[in-house]
Amino acid sequence: MNMRSIGTSDHPDDGTDEDAQYESLISSATIMLVDDEPINTEVLQTYLQGEGYTNFIATCESTKALDIMRQKRPDVVLLDLMMPDVSGFDILTAMRRDRKLHPIPVVILTSSDDAETKLKALQLGAMDFLAKPVDASELALRLRNTLAAKAYQHQLVNYDQLTGLPKLDAFLEVAASTAATLKENNTNGAALHIYVENLKNINKSMGREIGNKLLQAFSRKLEQCIRSTEAIRSAFVADVRTSIARTGGDKFSVFLGPLESPQNAAVLARRIIIDTSEPFLLDGQQIFTSVKIGIAIFPDDAGNTLELIHNAETAMAHARERGGAEDYAFYSAEMNAESTKILAIETGLRTAIEREELRVTYQPKVDLRTDKIIGAEALIRWVSGELGFVGPDEFVTIAERTGQIVPIGAWILEQACIQAAQWRSTYAFDFRLAVNVSIKQLHDSDMVKTVQNVLDTSGFPAHCLTLELTEGMVMENAESNIELLHQLKSLGVKLSIDDFGTGYSSLSYLQRFPLDELKIDRSFIEEVKSEAIRTPIVRAMVSLAHDLGMTVVAEGVETEIQLNHMKMLECELFQGYLCSKPVIAKAFDALLENDYPRQSAA
Ligand code: C2E
Ligand code: CA
Ligand code: CA
Repeated sequence: MNMRSIGTSDHPDDGTDEDAQYESLISSATIMLVDDEPINTEVLQTYLQGEGYTNFIATCESTKALDIMRQKRPDVVLLDLMMPDVSGFDILTAMRRDRKLHPIPVVILTSSDDAETKLKALQLGAMDFLAKPVDASELALRLRNTLAAKAYQHQLVNYDQLTGLPKLDAFLEVAASTAATLKENNTNGAALHIYVENLKNINKSMGREIGNKLLQAFSRKLEQCIRSTEAIRSAFVADVRTSIARTGGDKFSVFLGPLESPQNAAVLARRIIIDTSEPFLLDGQQIFTSVKIGIAIFPDDAGNTLELIHNAETAMAHARERGGAEDYAFYSAEMNAESTKILAIETGLRTAIEREELRVTYQPKVDLRTDKIIGAEALIRWVSGELGFVGPDEFVTIAERTGQIVPIGAWILEQACIQAAQWRSTYAFDFRLAVNVSIKQLHDSDMVKTVQNVLDTSGFPAHCLTLELTEGMVMENAESNIELLHQLKSLGVKLSIDDFGTGYSSLSYLQRFPLDELKIDRSFIEEVKSEAIRTPIVRAMVSLAHDLGMTVVAEGVETEIQLNHMKMLECELFQGYLCSKPVIAKAFDALLENDYPRQSAA
């Protein structure tokens, strides 16, 4: 039942708005009918269906009525008073003693005109009466009003009147069901506790009215932050407001999941800190706030949501005590250390190019039939002044999130194309270059232009360049990527699907994407440990790729056994430590020299 809509409208006097509210109340309400005569419940149900009600629970057995109520939790009960065995009075009495049934409104159906009966029912908490035989239009109106009153009461009890956000109990109810889903799927969630530090001072110096307006604006800002933080998109809920609560005068709680990484909760925290540090314009005045945020991770920091929220509050207290640059803290020490490292990586990456801290390494791509190197995959390396060596697995995802991957990716493409063009002329063969492209680059509006520019300036031929995109990336929002892939393809370059087998490919998209190459992920090659091994999945991947006209590359080949196995499966190319680790250009020269001895050097 849509309870939020009542009482929160911006235009309470707007008739059409009100009609719409009633309509949604009616269509979502579940009506329970308890009457010992089936004909009565049938007639009532027919009346009500005509009024737009759709959900009914009817029973003629008064002995079972309470059990059914506990199970189905109707929004309103239409109760006959005179029934054998258990009377309507008995049911009313029991309902009022039951904490869960207590709030359900009851409308009494009675043929009795007896004032005493009515008084007794009222005393027992009945909301309204309907005289039997029931008049259809009276029934509809009384029921509607009862539902509206219940919704209003629900609103008062469960929602903060100032901000419209859920109060703790209502919030916990939603959180518990989110938590159950997270547990089922073995995924993480996060609770954030957000404290508006200077609300008390603002109330004191500027008056409560400004303080109230600030809280309203602040809560809307919170919603906006949650909606627009891409790092927590996986936790996106239809109604963001159900994941936020006002849990104190100057305190808010947020619970959401699933998160791709628990550290993404820190991304949201930073976003909230930055966005709410902008002044709020209230009554023509600029009001500044500052917040402190604590984060607790589900289920690692607590498996129970109330405890989790409490731990987030404790983390917030740590952030306050600590003072210093960061206005948020995790509950666990390890998460804090990790979060500090991530921030250092983010900061370091911003100047990595200009400080010349990035390097390109090259790993040979080898033809399985001739055993000769046919080209290389460019792989980035970063040696940071502050952090030392940072592996691409550690920083590439961070660079993707911050968007740094766009300039970094353009840089590596340019460096590698210049180098590869030089190898083409030095060793006089059709050297092929592969460069990894992140989905962020694919979605960058300048991508096609950037690639074209690099090809033009380096003189590297388009048909010898392969752009590698990981399976998971292109398959997510596959439909929207088709056009982008075609645009890239129109430059004359080749496209490859990387880490194949780790994502969830849709076969129909595999066919619709303009792909030239498929790289079987290392994890499948790793499985090949003996000559006798059977690998039906790898065999199927190879044959699927070939049927789609694609070349197949085996990644991470480390042993002769693996090499021979992939040869046997008629895979065309391989990469792996068996030939060479990724090396800097100078070392790669030596590998090429071996396969393509230069005339001049002879
Ligand atoms: P990837 O594109 O799947 O690259 C292959 C990774 O496997 C490389 O790790 C490579 O060093 C490693 N590898 C190759 N042969 C073997 C082997 O025989 N055994 C083992 N154990 N590993 C092998 P690396 O260089 O650490 O790169 C990791 C990932 O980082 C790459 O996976 C790629 O997704 C990303 N990456 C690296 N450079 C770039 C880049 O310039 N741009 C983008 N967007 N991503 C990059
Ligand atoms: Ca790759
Ligand atoms: Ca790969």
